[in-house]
Amino acid sequence: MRKPPMIGDSIALDLANTHFNVRKRLFDGIESEPALASWLKDAGPRVTGGADTPDGVVNKNLVIRFHELRDVIRAAGARAADGLPPLAVEVEALNAFARSIPSSPQLLPDDEGVWHLRAHADGATPEVALAMISADMLTLLGGPRAQQLRACPAPNCPLFFLQDRPRRHWCSPACGTRARAAASYARHAQARTRPLHNPPRSVTPTT
Ligand SMILES: [Zn+2]
Repeated sequence: MRKPPMIGDSIALDLANTHFNVRKRLFDGIESEPALASWLKDAGPRVTGGADTPDGVVNKNLVIRFHELRDVIRAAGARAADGLPPLAVEVEALNAFARSIPSSPQLLPDDEGVWHLRAHADGATPEVALAMISADMLTLLGGPRAQQLRACPAPNCPLFFLQDRPRRHWCSPACGTRARAAASYARHAQARTRPLHNPPRSVTPTT
């Protein structure tokens, strides 16, 4: 089972990025019940409002619900990356996911004691995680960070990230290296191409 990347810019984008690519092959990091349970465990407090690990049954229906949420986040994310607002149908779906569990804003510390504004809900079930991730995407789309949302421009990379500094152009340093190598290869390939000085003459069929 391949683990999807956890860029950490936003838990909603991390869910979007469970649709990922390794050597031009697409993977689904939440394709099965064990894969989703593993992803939730890795997401930890970011989807539980403070509790360590989401605790609850991960069944087929939950996998389907997470895929639905991921599809909406990816669609709205792609529009935001193009500078477009989300469609009403996307917002309605995100609102519905977020509304399913009562939650309230809380300031919670990270490992280094820095405070972060997070939605908090009682319990740490996977259903709470669905609501928390939707709330994160709504906060992202409704705030100034929407303008930072980018689709990684590296070849074959389907990941999203937040351009939180001007010199950040790719989701990861590895993608930056690949993109520069691809651009260099394309330049060399173009330099090797010579125009045809004597193109073949057209042949007139004889009867
Ligand atoms: Zn990338």
